[in-house]
Amino acid sequence: MHKRKYIISFVAILLIGGALYAGNQGNHQAEQQEQQTLIKNKSALSKPEDKQGTPVNQNQSSQTTKPSNTNDTSNNKDTSNNKDTSKSKDTSKSNNPSKSKDTSNNKVTTPASPGKTTSFVNSYKVEHVVAEPKSHTVLVNKTYRLPEGYVPPDLVYPNVPFTFVEKVDKRKMRKVAAGALEKLFAGAKRDGVMLAGVSGYRSESRQTTLYNNYVKRDGVKAADTYSARPGHSEHQTGLTIDVAGSNGKCAAESCFAGTKEAKWLSKHAHEYGFIIRYPSGKDAITGYKYEPWHLRYVGNEIAKTVTTKQITLEQYFGNTVEVSR
Ligand SMILES: [Zn+2]
Repeated sequence: MHKRKYIISFVAILLIGGALYAGNQGNHQAEQQEQQTLIKNKSALSKPEDKQGTPVNQNQSSQTTKPSNTNDTSNNKDTSNNKDTSKSKDTSKSNNPSKSKDTSNNKVTTPASPGKTTSFVNSYKVEHVVAEPKSHTVLVNKTYRLPEGYVPPDLVYPNVPFTFVEKVDKRKMRKVAAGALEKLFAGAKRDGVMLAGVSGYRSESRQTTLYNNYVKRDGVKAADTYSARPGHSEHQTGLTIDVAGSNGKCAAESCFAGTKEAKWLSKHAHEYGFIIRYPSGKDAITGYKYEPWHLRYVGNEIAKTVTTKQITLEQYFGNTVEVSR
């Protein structure tokens, strides 16, 4: 009998607790909304695996296409730079009001399989143009490309040593990445690791030349495992740099793996907002073999998450990437 009494009181407590909880929902929604807004402002892309509600960009389907419908590479020419820039501006403007509406109505669509990001197929079979190429968190790979002829807005020369002396394009990076790189090099130096830049920014035409040469030498299939097609290179974002030890040994070569420089980078790059973009054993997801020298700036928060969870940028963003086409 006593037992039953206890059970009844327990149920009563649960009911009261539930009521209190429901009363708090308003607050929770406000918090959630704030968080979503934060993520949206921070990134051109959404990451479905972290939010239960979500895909921030589903609200903008009038402006953007969901990844999955086009697979024609021939249309690239249609997208001019100006068009793209204005489009992404529009999108960010229109986004906030529609989002708050969604949240308050509790009508946020849940992705088919939140958290399941391995369905992302990264190949040239499907191609989309990213809507916000200037975002520091832009995802560029075989599936997602930069608008044709894209040139990053704020390229500067980072004040770090390189394996060459010429003041050429490949020394450049976007301002935010250049500043972070300077800090990274200084941090490495403090640990007795002397680094040197090998290759930073690369224009689309430069990438075209490189890729075509690799294809001539090794064939398309092999070239695609280590070199990006024009418009698909992270180097064109200005947020990426290949690094080596200051002696330039094994620069951008597989023998760089296991060197003390590579070890330092894999351990500390994220502290400066960089990730090892093409980790070992993730070829199927990134589309590229292991490149311990290829650093991509994504900012401290994403770099930390990607590194500690041992995932790739593809897995971080899932398959809901905002595109203009
Ligand atoms: Zn690289």
